[in-house]
Amino acid sequence: MKKNIAILGSTGSIGTQALEVIEANPEIFSATVLTAQENADLLIEQAVKFLPKEVVIGNEKHFDKVKSALSPFDIKVYTGIEALVSVVETDNVDTVLTAMVGYAGLLPTIHAIKAGKDIALANKETLVVAGELITGLAKQYDVNIYPVDSEHSAIFQCLVGEEGNKIEKIILTASGGPFRGKDRTYLANVTKEQALKHPNWSMGAKITIDSATLMNKGLEVIEAKWLFGLEASQIDVIVHPQSIVHSLVQFEDGSIKAQMGLPDMKLPIQYALRYPARLKSAYPRFNFTDYPSLTFEKPDLDTFRNLAIAYEVLDKGGNAACIVNAANEIAVEAFLRDKIGFLDISDLIIESLAKISYISTPTYSDYVQTNEATRRFASELIQVKV
Ligand code: NAD
Ligand code: MG
Repeated sequence: MKKNIAILGSTGSIGTQALEVIEANPEIFSATVLTAQENADLLIEQAVKFLPKEVVIGNEKHFDKVKSALSPFDIKVYTGIEALVSVVETDNVDTVLTAMVGYAGLLPTIHAIKAGKDIALANKETLVVAGELITGLAKQYDVNIYPVDSEHSAIFQCLVGEEGNKIEKIILTASGGPFRGKDRTYLANVTKEQALKHPNWSMGAKITIDSATLMNKGLEVIEAKWLFGLEASQIDVIVHPQSIVHSLVQFEDGSIKAQMGLPDMKLPIQYALRYPARLKSAYPRFNFTDYPSLTFEKPDLDTFRNLAIAYEVLDKGGNAACIVNAANEIAVEAFLRDKIGFLDISDLIIESLAKISYISTPTYSDYVQTNEATRRFASELIQVKV
């Protein structure tokens, strides 16, 4: 029996790599649902190749184009937010890979869990915004959440066979991004072109900027709390510029397990889709003598304030991380449009946290309102700044 996969965000960096995994293992996986927001041409190309049962193009402007291009095939084509959210519920899906970017991941993930589908979670923003709600629903509906993020996959892999053994702490590795070692004077004038040049990974624009600000590591600290049920004091971050050690777990006897390999997202993607089995792959192998030194250093929390902010909201709980996520999404978008500077990103997040009301036990509609209010406030602040 083939495993039927829905890929939400199939045209992005994770989505296209997931399709490479599926293409390499046609007897194991079938891509039955594909969704994308804007890139109609690539979505059409993917649909013609993989012949999914259902396709959704988010932006209604592209619907006619996708619909007519796919009319010779037995593929249902939908558009709009409601279709993006509910397409995961079909019987044609076993596992949903959440590979869309940002807050938009939250609602489809909730629908998928309620429909009893396992989640291969790339969209970390979902757990950042509403980790408590999502992990609670997963328990209630008896659904598994398999991490795709390379650090969390590393930890998940280290925990196999350790059932019943307590985690003393985890150590998330960070590449440090393109501005590792730089100071605030330098960062004040960096451009988006510089920020988009990640040293080790090729990814979508939003996560690449998040990697440059260390917001990505901050989001991952919060993601780890919910995935593995940890306290803030049990989550360490260490900068490891070579990105070979993908993360580590320290147990109560002091033993540390690490997961290593060359940076390639296809490995964590296929592990999440086929857990607990490991699929044979032809990806290049890591060679120790090519890397005579693997180095580790402390992150600079004074310069890269977003990581410090993430720890702060982790302790605070409630809707605080939802505020940080929304402000960051608006700030990154503005930085990518050259509206604000690199250091303004943290300022916007800090000002949003001070302004938007804190709710200690938010409901789903509190998250929706927090997200909207924060986006509005952060956008207004940007208008004032420019
Ligand atoms: P990307 O920008 O390359 O792709 C995003 C995909 O989401 C596209 O297919 C796009 O059409 C779709 N999309 C965008 N806005 C949408 C919306 N409002 N509704 C529905 N779909 C929408 O992004 P990416 O780099 O592939 O990252 C996707 C997610 O995976 C992010 O949450 C990111 O943090 C996470 N992630 C990515 C990597 C990586 O290596 N790229 C690694 C770890 C985690
Ligand atoms: Mg990661």
